[in-house]
Amino acid sequence: MRIVLLGAPGSGKGTQAFKLQTDMGLPQISTGELLREAVAAGTELGLRADAHMKNGELVSDDIVLGIIKDRLAASDTAKDYLLDGFPRNLGQAESLDQVLIDLDQSLDAAILMDVDFEILIKRLTGRRTCSKTGKLLNIYFSTKAELEECLTNGGELLQRADDNEDTIRNRLRVYKRETEPLIEFYADRGILRVIDANGIADEVYASLKKVLVS
Ligand code: AMP
Repeated sequence: MRIVLLGAPGSGKGTQAFKLQTDMGLPQISTGELLREAVAAGTELGLRADAHMKNGELVSDDIVLGIIKDRLAASDTAKDYLLDGFPRNLGQAESLDQVLIDLDQSLDAAILMDVDFEILIKRLTGRRTCSKTGKLLNIYFSTKAELEECLTNGGELLQRADDNEDTIRNRLRVYKRETEPLIEFYADRGILRVIDANGIADEVYASLKKVLVS
């Protein structure tokens, strides 16, 4: 199965993609994750991407397309994969169409994860990663016990560099302007599915699986 996950920053794409990868063996391709790795490794590509990411702007299409083409050429993505955070604008969606034609592939679905604005803000401003376990937590939604478990084990609650309020506001503006038009793009192709992604991760995952098997 080849799936595009669509949704605003904070809609839970990464969380659900990780669940699908673990549960169904669908390789997750997250351009945001691949870019953060390049930034951390200090590669030339990472250096070019860094400032855009810090401001909540999109990284240039040529960088992202290069990453995607390399990743789709790997053997584990020969049949199935899940695109998380790509495409992010109409140009990227059209380029993806061309890449898929070249690979003789097609998409099975584009799934929009629909979340109310106030919940998005809390998910983004509250998002933390435990430095010890890598577990994703949230100061508004995780239990006190989950948060304390990280701290008492000597971990720190780390915040992503682009999860500060100014950048978050910009990322949401960019999503509206650049990425939202993809909803109509995939609806026109007849492959758009919409799920209510306001609930807790397990509930959202149940809805996602229902859509995938229908
Ligand atoms: P994400 O982890 O998906 O929220 O992405 C984090 C940041 O990486 C975004 O705010 C962009 O700066 C950059 N990024 C990720 N995916 C793309 C993409 N497909 N096109 C352009 N920039 C991207």
